[in-house]
Amino acid sequence: MSDQVLRDLVAMGKFLGSLDGIGVKGGKGGKVQKARPAPPAVVPLRLAVSEARDVLEVRQVSTPATPAPVAPVRAGRDAAATEIAVGAIREEIGDCKRCRLCEGRTKIVFGQGSAGAELMFVGEAPGADEDASGLAFVGRAGQLLTDMIEKGMKIKRADVFIANVIKCRPPGNRPPEADEVLTCQPFLEAQIKTIQPRAIVALGATAGKFMTKTAEPISKLRGRFSSWDGIPVMPTYHPAYLLRNPAAKKDVWADLRLVMDVLGSRTD
Ligand code: URA
Repeated sequence: MSDQVLRDLVAMGKFLGSLDGIGVKGGKGGKVQKARPAPPAVVPLRLAVSEARDVLEVRQVSTPATPAPVAPVRAGRDAAATEIAVGAIREEIGDCKRCRLCEGRTKIVFGQGSAGAELMFVGEAPGADEDASGLAFVGRAGQLLTDMIEKGMKIKRADVFIANVIKCRPPGNRPPEADEVLTCQPFLEAQIKTIQPRAIVALGATAGKFMTKTAEPISKLRGRFSSWDGIPVMPTYHPAYLLRNPAAKKDVWADLRLVMDVLGSRTD
């Protein structure tokens, strides 16, 4: 077994252990580090056989494979101006009555984190805890998301930005309806365009479909990058799903490691 494989297994063990409350606890949060080149895409080899004159030629050719995405390099930005621009999006939302969800909500959940974030997480919609507090991902799923970010990726949660496809809680936590997503869409898009993260993690089916503009199930979308306006997007399972299906944590960890590669933030 190679050293790299061994290191990967140890790192995965620490991550899974920390999330289960066993093994490594915590780990220092740190800023996303300097970009490291993403590993080359694995290119499957096949044999091509051609008969030219009397000679049988056998050679190895490569099959085109999806190249590993490159996280865009951001030009230096005025952090204060970006923060003001994000605040302006919140102002634009106002005391929103653009769709029926305003009737049952307590608070609008705009999303929170660093306006200078290199990494953004997009969930589905606020739940009961978020609706009451006005903050994204603060319930049990939110605690698991914090562990994924801080213990797994070794990034402080305050350094990423976390938002949802829609900003108001649907009644009974039902999935958002198409017209609700359409109505809220400009605000998430404005958040992404303003923050300009270098990578986005889409959490669960609703965010996965929204960010990739496809109808594929999350089980098919996860583990593969797509692009949103040039930003690499990694769909993965929602933390609420992981609470019900802890066996899927290893898949999420694999997906997050690909994101760390793209950001150049892997330390192992
Ligand atoms: N689930 C989500 O998708 N978003 C939240 O903010 C909380 C739970």
